[in-house]
Amino acid sequence: MTETKLNHIAGEWVSGGSEIENRNPSDLSDLVGRFAQATPDQLDTALDAAIAAQAEWAAYGLERKQAVLMSIGTEMMARAEELGTLLSREEGKPLAEGKGEVYRAGQFFTYYAHEILRQLGENADSVRPGIEVDIRRDPVGTVAVISPWNFPTATASWKIAPALAFGNAVIWKPANLTPASAHALTEIITRQDIPKGLFQLVMGAGRDVGQRLVESPKVDAISFTGSVPVGKGIAAAAIGNLTRVQMEMGSKNALAVMDDADLDLAVTLALGGAFGGSGQKCTASSRLIVHDAIHDAFVDKLVAGAKAMKVGHALAEGTQMGPVVSEQQLAENLAYVELGKSEGAELACGGARLTMETEGYFMSPGVFLNTTNQMRINREEMFAPLASVIRVGSYDEALATVNDTDFGLVSGIVTRNLARATDFRRKAQTGVVTVNLPTAGTDYHVPFGGRGLSSYGPREQGTYAREFYTSVKTSYIAS
Ligand code: NAD
Repeated sequence: MTETKLNHIAGEWVSGGSEIENRNPSDLSDLVGRFAQATPDQLDTALDAAIAAQAEWAAYGLERKQAVLMSIGTEMMARAEELGTLLSREEGKPLAEGKGEVYRAGQFFTYYAHEILRQLGENADSVRPGIEVDIRRDPVGTVAVISPWNFPTATASWKIAPALAFGNAVIWKPANLTPASAHALTEIITRQDIPKGLFQLVMGAGRDVGQRLVESPKVDAISFTGSVPVGKGIAAAAIGNLTRVQMEMGSKNALAVMDDADLDLAVTLALGGAFGGSGQKCTASSRLIVHDAIHDAFVDKLVAGAKAMKVGHALAEGTQMGPVVSEQQLAENLAYVELGKSEGAELACGGARLTMETEGYFMSPGVFLNTTNQMRINREEMFAPLASVIRVGSYDEALATVNDTDFGLVSGIVTRNLARATDFRRKAQTGVVTVNLPTAGTDYHVPFGGRGLSSYGPREQGTYAREFYTSVKTSYIAS
């Protein structure tokens, strides 16, 4: 009998009201674990415990706090192989990506460990003679971290690390599709020299535990990454208490391939961007906007590359694309394939469920040709291994098409023309722009976030994270 993994509340591992069972999307016969679901009472306990713990943590010396974050990050990096394997097993991304995600998540903690020592305050003279002004940043209090399944360790870590570094308590509600990696990270964090209740794990369904958490007036800040509809609901709940929110949501990223592009580079970027992580990335390149002059050559290579892609068990040697995360996700993806065809797009390859040695949620990478930017497959986030090619006649048309979206997370251009690249960087209406690089992939020391429906509230990551996780205090001191 598999032991049920518990929640961590007020410094203790506690069982829940009910439990869920999670299976490996690459092999449904593989039970990843059973996970306790937090009850409303437990959540109330967590909210109270966080208040006392945060006060204690805020009084820790800087070096003591720094040692905690360094220790978390160092352990994650040292155990990237083991924790990455668990992540890939429960979420389905190929092992190299799972390990890479855990290692990168560890780097968030070591980066913010150093940020703890950065000089945070400012001084000024008052306009009133003999008075000095001290401007400093206090912690916000209790931060609710609500994270998605697609980067279960990275997205959570880039919220948890700065929240702790800047002196806050954290209550983490991970996605119910990926509780195993959440539990593993919680084991690492709660073993550290931290007050009981400073960091708490409450697993459960978004509509139950998540909703109750974001509605609580005891939560001072909510950092959310997930879908637009859920984000809108959280924003509405937060406004009721005037709780500060930061939200990273969906996207419909474009990669513009110009007539002067390095063809092989463009195809490599498109294949990785569209099908990496089975297309389940907020930074996926789902719209491939291709100049007429290079279109046919690009499409030939793209379709050949998609057909040659090795789909398989996430942990198997040589797998380039694992399964999608769930039965529901697979069903939605297949429905989008039908929608694309009904809208008049030509499915050049893939887009079908695959039968493998193990029973899982496998599908072949699909490429749509002859699409227009107005089709629903090019307007809605599909979160699927499906790419659409949109043919354009000029750079200006490409740029206009890139910007014609409700989202605004990442846009990329592939070109050898410096003037075009510069113009694109200036005019692309996204929070992140890439030139001759994948749309996916971010650093941890610079801001990340988008525009339009993709983001709401202050930026995440780098020094910009400080804005969200601290509250400014201005003190006047008479000498
Ligand atoms: P989701 O919106 O379904 O769930 C995200 C989290 O919110 C989960 O923990 C879920 O349990 C919780 N939740 C659901 N309903 C809730 C409610 N009513 N109240 C409080 N919490 C609730 O998203 P998902 O399917 O887990 O993740 C995929 C989405 O995340 C995609 O849209 C993707 O683009 C987005 N994403 C964005 C970024 C980014 O940085 N922009 C990064 C990764 C993923």
